[in-house]
Amino acid sequence: MTWCNNASCLAPTTGASPQIFAATLQYFAAAQCLLSHQNVPDTPILNFQSFDFIIIGGGTAGSVLAKRLSEVKHWNILLIEAGGDPPVESHIPGLDNSMTNDVFNWNYLSVDNGIINQAIINGSINLSRGKMFGGSSSLSEMHYIRGHDRDYQNWFNAGNIDWTHDDIHRCFKKIENLQNEKMLKDPAINKYYGDKGQLILNRFNSTNRDIANNILKSWHEMGFRYVPDLNMGGLMGSGIVTATATNGERQSTYTAYLEPIKNKWNVKILKNTRARKLLITKDSKLCFGVEVEKEGKILNFYATHEVILSAGAVNTPHLLMLSGIGSKDHLLAKNISCLVDSPMVGQNLQDHLLVPITVYGDGPEKPPEKETHRDVANYLLDRTGRLAESAKFTDITAFYSTKNNPFHPEFQLHLSIVPKNTTDLEGMLKYQYRYKDPIIDSMTKLNKNHSLYFFGFNLLHPYSRGNISLNTNNPKDAPFIFTNYFSDASDLKMAVQGLKMASKVVKTNFFKSIRGFLGRMNWPACNVFELDSEGYWECVSMNLVTSMSHLVGTCKMGPDPESAVVNSRLKVHGVSHLRVVDASVMPEITSGNINAPCIMVAERAAEFIKEEYFNFK
Ligand SMILES: Cc1cc2nc3c(=O)[nH]c(=O)nc-3n(C[C@H](O)[C@H](O)[C@H](O)COP(=O)(O)OP(=O)(O)OC[C@H]3O[C@@H](n4cnc5c(N)ncnc54)[C@H](O)[C@@H]3O)c2cc1C
Repeated sequence: MTWCNNASCLAPTTGASPQIFAATLQYFAAAQCLLSHQNVPDTPILNFQSFDFIIIGGGTAGSVLAKRLSEVKHWNILLIEAGGDPPVESHIPGLDNSMTNDVFNWNYLSVDNGIINQAIINGSINLSRGKMFGGSSSLSEMHYIRGHDRDYQNWFNAGNIDWTHDDIHRCFKKIENLQNEKMLKDPAINKYYGDKGQLILNRFNSTNRDIANNILKSWHEMGFRYVPDLNMGGLMGSGIVTATATNGERQSTYTAYLEPIKNKWNVKILKNTRARKLLITKDSKLCFGVEVEKEGKILNFYATHEVILSAGAVNTPHLLMLSGIGSKDHLLAKNISCLVDSPMVGQNLQDHLLVPITVYGDGPEKPPEKETHRDVANYLLDRTGRLAESAKFTDITAFYSTKNNPFHPEFQLHLSIVPKNTTDLEGMLKYQYRYKDPIIDSMTKLNKNHSLYFFGFNLLHPYSRGNISLNTNNPKDAPFIFTNYFSDASDLKMAVQGLKMASKVVKTNFFKSIRGFLGRMNWPACNVFELDSEGYWECVSMNLVTSMSHLVGTCKMGPDPESAVVNSRLKVHGVSHLRVVDASVMPEITSGNINAPCIMVAERAAEFIKEEYFNFK
């Protein structure tokens, strides 16, 4: 800090003031180091080494499994992760938007199908996926939503008999360690959540709640009634989200599950190591290991008990296909010999699509530069302020339905608030949403003089199905991802109804008080329609639709190998000693954000494995 001592503006001096200021600056500089975590040791492992279990993917589900399986003292576990240690930005909630670098993100893009996404660059949307320990839980917006009982009842009714209501709730409680004082004081909430789980749940340390509270009042006024806890309230109404964050720091499955066992003797962890294909015997179809690439070398590792694929909803079906498990015709077309003809691998892709609703109003103003620095200083001092909450969305959400007495939510709303004349808006729209110039120009122009309330509308239970297929048989070539949003016409009809309900927010007292109005998103094909008409929303939906990053379903669970990839205990149909445990097994997408359901799936899978090997409790 000598530069401080030498700063000419401080002279002449007795020496006392530079000393005080330097000490404070040093304190702040050191405070950021408190956020760093020790790296996971990269274990030297010999080629052809053997383990009881090999887990591919140290992401959301893989980290949970590594922890749970390591509890059996005599089991030897190898965890293979394509990425490495999460950057410090992963631990700071307000920097969740900054992990776009290829080192931490697979940065997939969807394929242009020439029908949807035409207001998006090259017709292809961003499909972020975490590439680091904790996977997508290390870059998510940290909203913790359990899903609805009916979602899981549908799984069960489809023949997945190991997923009863009691199983699901027990596994959620195993995850949860609720630490929010206000919520814990409410006996009903206290009873609903687990308190001894691995994952600390809390609310964001948000310090500027005024505007978010006004929006909650608006939603309440519209009939999306405020509830004290959304999970307990059966995901109907509006409220503040429970978050996988506490005291201003993210709680990923890396920090909650993997980090505590990173030096455990029976867990070996390989980072920056990419699985290329599964090793499967040709005749008996038994999975006995995995081929990986690490630092340019090809290595093989063997599993005596099982290989578990937890590479996520894109990479898990990709790896299965590269290994000869998939639709026979498709594999042969890519010069891969088919070991198991499993037509549903990569099919049944579901996501929560996002359509923007842009409302403008008189406030809030952009904070002066001094306030921005003070806010960052607050974060360093006590982990509060803007950096203590997700940058992408505020911590409020609303679930609602077209029905009069709704039981199951059909739609969800997220919200970003962009103060008047925010210079970052253009970058956000260009790089995150990939919108083309006319859309960006219309939003930035209105934002010059008005603040923007960017509502992210989600359709929770789409009928449309996308798919993932091989581009080539080279493991390094990204697969093709077709989201096929709105390929089922009823989804568009539903979305329009939901959007029209949501846009009524401009008529609420709060928006009247700030002279709120609905802004037109300038896209030539949509400009022929009256603003807020059904035609307008249909056109906006088709052209501007993007992803909530909730991809699931591509290795669907179900009893029939013709219509599913894994059985109710997540074992791959047609291959022994191979399980899939991640978002891809969900037969139907759950209501709301899907990280918590993925963690629950992994907790349940760990129970299956322990039960099957020796009734371990
Ligand atoms: C930007 C973003 C924001 C989100 N926000 C929320 C939110 O606020 N709330 C919520 O509930 N959900 C959210 N989600 C969704 C949720 O986080 C994910 O759907 C969920 O975490 C997926 O878990 P998973 O275990 O299936 O996959 P992942 O967590 O993605 O894990 C897969 C892991 O496998 C590794 N891997 C892949 N291929 C290989 C290979 N060949 N070899 C070795 N390793 C490999 C990956 O690097 C990764 O670490 C968000 C997702 C994203 C991308």
